[in-house]
Amino acid sequence: MGILVIGSIAFDSVETPFGKRNEVLGGSATFFSLSARFFDTVSIVACVGEDFPGRMLAMLRSKGIGIDGVEVLKGRTFRWKARYGADMNIARTLATHLNVFSEFVPKIPAHLAGARTLFLANIDPSLQDDVLRQVRRPRLVACDTMNFWITHKRKALRRLIRKVDIILLNDSEAKQLSGEENLLKAAKAIRRMGPEIIVIKKGEHGVLLSTRGSHLLAPAYLLESIRDPTGAGDSFAGGMLGYLGRHRRIDEQAVRRSVIYGTIVASFAVEDFSVRRLLTLRKSDIVNRYRDFCRITRF
Ligand code: AMP
Repeated sequence: MGILVIGSIAFDSVETPFGKRNEVLGGSATFFSLSARFFDTVSIVACVGEDFPGRMLAMLRSKGIGIDGVEVLKGRTFRWKARYGADMNIARTLATHLNVFSEFVPKIPAHLAGARTLFLANIDPSLQDDVLRQVRRPRLVACDTMNFWITHKRKALRRLIRKVDIILLNDSEAKQLSGEENLLKAAKAIRRMGPEIIVIKKGEHGVLLSTRGSHLLAPAYLLESIRDPTGAGDSFAGGMLGYLGRHRRIDEQAVRRSVIYGTIVASFAVEDFSVRRLLTLRKSDIVNRYRDFCRITRF
């Protein structure tokens, strides 16, 4: 079994300078799995409420995503509402309704407990930890988080971070978690908390990869129009871990390339609202844009 992801499946209500969408499909596990599927097999552990349309689960299955670990619970599906202003790097969260996630106790089906790669997408760190304890011996464990959990569940988050190989977070979260304003210092401080590999996302300004021995500064792919940045981080993680998980040796070169694959997949996700662009995306689009990225950044 390839990748297992625990995260949210959500209804998002989003407003950007390019439009407004109400209760569209979103969630960290959704964006991640729709991105990682281009590289490896992927299964989701999450829960939805009784209001979640069966056709959406069927759609995920039709894209090759394993949904045996998705439980339908009594109650309403997780909801998130956000607004992006002219600076689309910053999402202003207007509402977070955990709904069924506040009662969720993840149980990993036996056939998924042998996953090689585990992605603990953005969700309550206690749930991330529950899942980590149930997966037998993952070769690679990565986690994401957000300001909401750094503020409300810092202790549980610090306990979790000790046990992961890779952490992905955006620049403001890195500063908040480490207490450092400078990103290099923030990366160093977070490495002392546990993970070997730190990925700090800076929205349209790209990403800083920090490993013990080196750094990589990669720009975002140049796009003329970004309609909705929601899910960029999870799609980045999907591309990155999808690529990395398939590698026999996880060396410096593989990690650096994986960051570029993450960058490329995320660049597609932001071209349209919700998961729309990810649904029409093909592997050849990713490969072509990866080559173009190499041309743009060579000097
Ligand atoms: P991203 O833009 O990649 O950081 O992630 C956006 C997705 O994360 C949205 O589709 C939301 O549904 C989901 N999300 C937002 N807040 C939370 C939260 N507190 N816990 C879990 N998922 C969340």
